[in-house]
Amino acid sequence: MSSQIPHITILGSLNTDLVAYVPHHPLPGETLTATSFLTSPGGKGSNQAVACAKLSRPRDLSSPSAHVSMVGAVGSDSNGDLLLSNLATHGVDSSLVTKLPNKKTGIAMIVVEAETGQNRIIISGEANHQVGEEYVTQGGWLDKTDLLIMQLEIPMGTVLEAVEEAKRRGVDVLLNPAPAKILPDGVYDGLRHLIVNETEAAILGGVEEKELDTLEGLERVGKGFVGKGVENFIATLGGRGVFYLTKGGRSGLIEAEKGVKVVDTTGAGDTFVGRYALEAARARKEGGEFDVGGAVGRANKAAAVTVTREGAARSIPWRDEVE
Ligand code: ADP
Repeated sequence: MSSQIPHITILGSLNTDLVAYVPHHPLPGETLTATSFLTSPGGKGSNQAVACAKLSRPRDLSSPSAHVSMVGAVGSDSNGDLLLSNLATHGVDSSLVTKLPNKKTGIAMIVVEAETGQNRIIISGEANHQVGEEYVTQGGWLDKTDLLIMQLEIPMGTVLEAVEEAKRRGVDVLLNPAPAKILPDGVYDGLRHLIVNETEAAILGGVEEKELDTLEGLERVGKGFVGKGVENFIATLGGRGVFYLTKGGRSGLIEAEKGVKVVDTTGAGDTFVGRYALEAARARKEGGEFDVGGAVGRANKAAAVTVTREGAARSIPWRDEVE
């Protein structure tokens, strides 16, 4: 590993996705026949690790622009083995993913509506529930990390401990609070990057989702988080694009890529986080000023590729597919 490239660590979930494609979402009591079905590696943590790794290098894994590690847990079943080999295939260091005896690997049941590409998801966390606070310090990985990425699919206590420990050690944190849960205000104080989608922005910002339909509403919510200490607030808005607001007062609404044929939006948010994280980690490593607008623009372009393909991890593009 070159010490010149930034080190990104993802502390989070690994799930096996069971994905059914349907003509429409089932109504209460309705039984539907899926038009197709696939099993694939997933989990927000694992997907964001794969996104960072794939977007940092071409398909032959040569010349990566970042070192990417995953910290988490799988069960001692074949699903766990598949998740570990999926990380390795994409160039993610999985040496700190623990294989837990007598536990099952996390599962996500995903239903995708063919017409709109919209998904509905049920998660059973399993081994992810076992990722306790001791995972934050084991192996000393925080000391080698330039940017720590987390979501909320592992126990909240672990996430809060990691945020505090990272702050103590001066490690940048990118928090993607998904699925949305109310967080203590202290989390936002000094948080370098907060990336939310519309649902998360509304729940955590304490507003109705329709308030985010206007630029004024987005600015109001963004200012709320910046007021609590967030340095860079980013809200992804699906087919509308992305809004960002920084502590220094920079802000913008970047439109989604036009003419995109949406097939399956699963993984779009994770792709966005991965591409943005590569820019954030590089700026951190090089010590220069972070161009938030530039990072958001590149992430927006990468996520637009993901929505044109089926699946989660496999729909995320390699670096040479977006440049
Ligand atoms: P999540 O999947 O986490 O809910 P979003 O739906 O907000 O996230 O999508 C994340 C990003 O993916 C968007 O900000 C945008 O960059 C891209 N994206 C999503 N839907 C589309 C679309 N219909 N056309 C182009 N880009 C899209």
